[in-house]
Amino acid sequence: MFFFFVGGLEQQARQVLKSGAGRCIACGSRADLVGYEKVLKLFFVPVWRWPGKEPVMYCNDCKLFFPQSLTPPPSSTAEVPDVLRCQFCRREVDGDFRFCPFCGNAL
Ligand SMILES: [Zn+2]
Ligand SMILES: [Zn+2]
Repeated sequence: MFFFFVGGLEQQARQVLKSGAGRCIACGSRADLVGYEKVLKLFFVPVWRWPGKEPVMYCNDCKLFFPQSLTPPPSSTAEVPDVLRCQFCRREVDGDFRFCPFCGNAL
């Protein structure tokens, strides 16, 4: 008995939001920030598509999608780190937090 996998879920770039916004984590070439959509395919025919929630990075060379957080911005001068350090345990805490998730002290 053979089982043929004829359906699948694919990601497709829908529009380029920012060209060359980062670097590919696999091959290191320029990657674009894109809006994407998920496409459900059955027998190689798209039957359903819906937009992805957040923009992702897309490498044209290896056709790879990956989260924007994995790639550093091309110029480090434009980087504004949104991290804060807890004054009690010295760990990095997201700037949105009001209490340290590690030790529970108010920031
Ligand atoms: Zn690549
Ligand atoms: Zn802390």
